[in-house]
Amino acid sequence: MSSTNYELRETPLEQPERRLLYFTCPACGSCRLQEIANGLWSISEINAVKANGEIEYGACEIDGGNKRTFRCGKCGYEIEGDDQNYIEDGQSLADWLITQSAKT
Ligand SMILES: [Zn+2]
Repeated sequence: MSSTNYELRETPLEQPERRLLYFTCPACGSCRLQEIANGLWSISEINAVKANGEIEYGACEIDGGNKRTFRCGKCGYEIEGDDQNYIEDGQSLADWLITQSAKT
């Protein structure tokens, strides 16, 4: 049998994990969100983040890299998780967005 990391994809659209999250920059209020891979090797526009950690990407300026950080596409504000660690994966980003939206 083959093993995969994928979870069963039988979630209906109404599932809370599928809902879209929205980024608002705490510094400048912009809704542009970018991902930076491997420092500055890759910058991708992020169109949407789902609560289950899935990310939908827009235009990618440069390819390559595997380390990920997320920042505001306007002012460059970098998103930090707990203990001031930069967020590096989709689920952490989704958790951060949920926390942020709960504050407003
Ligand atoms: Zn900003």
